[in-house]
Amino acid sequence: MATDVKAPPLREFPGAPQALVPGAMAESRPYVATDKMQQALGFPGELTDGWQGRAIGRMGELLEKYRSLKVYLDACVHCGACADKCHYFIGTQDPLNMPVARQDLMRSVYRRYFTLPGKLFPKLVGARDLTKEVLDQWYTYYNQCSECRRCSVFCPYGIDTAEVTMAAREIMDVVGLGQKYSNEIIGKVHRIGNNLGLPGPALADTLEGLAEDTKEETGADVRFPLDEKGAEVLLITPSADFFAEPHVDSLIGYAKVLHAAGISWTLSSHASEAANFGLFIGNYEQMRKVALRIREAALDLGVKRVVVGECGHAWRVAYSYWNTLTGIGAGGDDPFARMLQQQLDSRYRQPTHICELTWDLIQRGALTFDKDANDHRTVTFHDSCNVARASRMGDTPGGQFEIPRSIIRAVANRYVEMAPGTTREETFCCGGGGGLLTDDILDLRVKGALPRMEALQQVVDREGVNFMATICAICKAQFSKVLPFYGFKMGMVGGVHQLVSTAIRLGPKH
Ligand code: SF4
Ligand code: SF4
Repeated sequence: MATDVKAPPLREFPGAPQALVPGAMAESRPYVATDKMQQALGFPGELTDGWQGRAIGRMGELLEKYRSLKVYLDACVHCGACADKCHYFIGTQDPLNMPVARQDLMRSVYRRYFTLPGKLFPKLVGARDLTKEVLDQWYTYYNQCSECRRCSVFCPYGIDTAEVTMAAREIMDVVGLGQKYSNEIIGKVHRIGNNLGLPGPALADTLEGLAEDTKEETGADVRFPLDEKGAEVLLITPSADFFAEPHVDSLIGYAKVLHAAGISWTLSSHASEAANFGLFIGNYEQMRKVALRIREAALDLGVKRVVVGECGHAWRVAYSYWNTLTGIGAGGDDPFARMLQQQLDSRYRQPTHICELTWDLIQRGALTFDKDANDHRTVTFHDSCNVARASRMGDTPGGQFEIPRSIIRAVANRYVEMAPGTTREETFCCGGGGGLLTDDILDLRVKGALPRMEALQQVVDREGVNFMATICAICKAQFSKVLPFYGFKMGMVGGVHQLVSTAIRLGPKH
């Protein structure tokens, strides 16, 4: 544990911060991408002469392309309803982490260059030139937003700060001020196929080891197939599932479910990553390029279904964008998208979330569980932002909340909800989403986790909760890191399919 990073005290009555601390996080910013990382994505390597004009030009293009952005920048009435809703503001007390203040960093520049009053009387309307100082402030505070969208739930106009953050990051990228963590990862996916830079042979070895371990545990020949042509299902899962703890336990759970149901499936070494950091940097072209590897793998392997593992923002990209980006789902209209739409089985939802698949099998009685096997756990569920507020599951509204909970109740006897106002559409971000899961800004991550940690402490104290399930690779990694700062065990967090894996019965040893 980093010794210079300290968690704020858990409060008896969580809510808005008691005091403001202006400038508290002014020095907290992630490392800037190197010129090599920038250029690998087609961005300039650094700020060069004329950057200001290019930034304003890009802002103009985004305002044209995304009408929502213009509406968000025009519509705010500064009512303050969003002010205390951001976990980073609650945890850091820095007023520039209030969502409205974060938006104003861009709104002030928008007014200066795109509105008449801002051009004529800038001071009167709070308009600012885009100076290097302002750009640096953007870099700091637009990299303290996890694009979680919680603030938008409380805004009477539905203003989505995440969209403003994405636009700011896009503008910074195109003038040469990219963020190292996200851009380095996107480059690895383009080169190798996953965030970790794990090559195909290493992945094959890892999967072989998992098959051996699972055989030893269950006695069953549960397979972890890679690049198998003709499989029914292509599983696209975050690369952390291949070896990180606790992620790998969910991968074992998916494999057991697919084995028990007799569904042939495969992973792909070409598309060995569900995460798509193109979303985080607000760049459609990068998002598309990352997603196209999945289409290439699906076409090459001839699969009938594409299933997505436990990853929050990956599910948002799959649910909301894959149709037009790749043709997985209706909407894509290029020749390869049409080819894939012909190939995929239209009787199934395309794409399918692994929780939808598992819940469907449970409802049809296709899986056998021993719920008592999870009796050492009292479980709560952390809704992940991008699943909760940016996607759906199943056929009914709220399916993204009900389906994971229904699975947990089917495989575990003890389930407890955290406080209302901290779950479902009002869930708090883990503190590490949106491209912020880097130790350069561990202080921010620890402080941003405060509201979730307070809600967790309540159910630990009152109900004896000792396991927080979630369906997001970033949440799992973030909580594993920050739980100890708040006095919890890092092993308290795990996947929904980790619980499934514990309870499912298969093979002679069961
Ligand atoms: S989107 Fe989330 S992180 Fe960003 S300002 Fe809103 S509440 Fe804060
Ligand atoms: S709630 Fe909406 S309108 Fe009110 S200050 Fe926040 S962004 Fe502006």
